[in-house]
Amino acid sequence: MSRVFNFSAGPAMLPEAVIKKASEEMLDWHGEGMSVMEMSHRGKAFMSIASKAEADLRTLMAIPDNYKVLFLQGGASMQFGAIPLNLLGDKTTADYINTGMWSKKAIAEAKRYCDVNVAASSEDSGFTTIPDFADWKLNPDAAYVHYTPNETIGGVEFDYIPDTGDVPLIADMSSTILSRPVDVSKFGMIYAGAQKNVGPAGLTLVIIRDDLLGHAADITPTMLNYKTHADADSMYNTPPTYSWYMAGLVFEWLLDNGGLQAMGKINKSKSDKLYAAIDGNDFYANPVEKRYRSWMNVPFTLKDADLDAAFLEQAAAKGLATLKGHRSVGGMRASIYNAMPESGVDTLVEFMAEFARANG
Ligand SMILES: *Cc1c(COP(=O)(O)O)cnc(C)c1O
Repeated sequence: MSRVFNFSAGPAMLPEAVIKKASEEMLDWHGEGMSVMEMSHRGKAFMSIASKAEADLRTLMAIPDNYKVLFLQGGASMQFGAIPLNLLGDKTTADYINTGMWSKKAIAEAKRYCDVNVAASSEDSGFTTIPDFADWKLNPDAAYVHYTPNETIGGVEFDYIPDTGDVPLIADMSSTILSRPVDVSKFGMIYAGAQKNVGPAGLTLVIIRDDLLGHAADITPTMLNYKTHADADSMYNTPPTYSWYMAGLVFEWLLDNGGLQAMGKINKSKSDKLYAAIDGNDFYANPVEKRYRSWMNVPFTLKDADLDAAFLEQAAAKGLATLKGHRSVGGMRASIYNAMPESGVDTLVEFMAEFARANG
């Protein structure tokens, strides 16, 4: 059985070179006589893996020194609650931008802890656009502004970073982190579940500015308090050691391949090709306003939904796997994160043309 092009939204494809390296190191990591999974997180070997991963991520994203990088568990979903608990301080309200399903989940959870001001929403459009920044109703008393730069389900992505002045900007980058260079200094905090563009599930990255630590509400569970993890270098308790190691291999792979500048170019090229294939054939459609189309998650529908099953079956026979769209959007979704080679997109584009010819 050969490896397929896996278009899953997450857990998603990992670079083949990374999986090979992990398999070579599986039984005996660097002469330790054990796998990374079997190591003490406090031993020298794992400490070196952990600190190299952090250093490489700092290099890749050019993370300024006044930001902490935390390697946590619980997924991005856990952060939906941790964010208000840690960041409200003596404020009682926070601004949220609603651009799709993940924004909505973050909003619903925050409402348990504070007054949520939905400062802008694209719900009226069916989440096919990004609300014009000029129309945002930001509250100067908000503790922070939360948004989702890339909505994984709707396939809508911001093409700019909002300027929220002195109010810290918090971004759920689960499905777009590492897809291109980003100016970290514009953010109070960036977080991401790892299983889309970073590594295996089980790891959550939090990149947080120093001054936002230490203001957690008294009721905050110790394990949800960012300061706990910042003070303990993410080793307050047993971290997700294997996922941390795998993320480290992904960071190395990215650095070896030109870093985020190079990734951004490839990702732009991959998504341009796929949107051209959709727009160039009236058999396919994508409803998102062109400027805000995601580079990472590309939803599309066929002219006739009755053909969906045949499309998926014939695609799978060509090694194009997991193209079924999210139930709320229907049709197909091709997630094309960093690990998806350009040849995977080329093969998909070719298949789409063939399928349209045969069924159009
Ligand atoms: C996948 C995803 C989540 C949820 O991540 P978990 O790690 O499963 O909790 C949250 N936000 C966005 C934007 C996502 O793509």
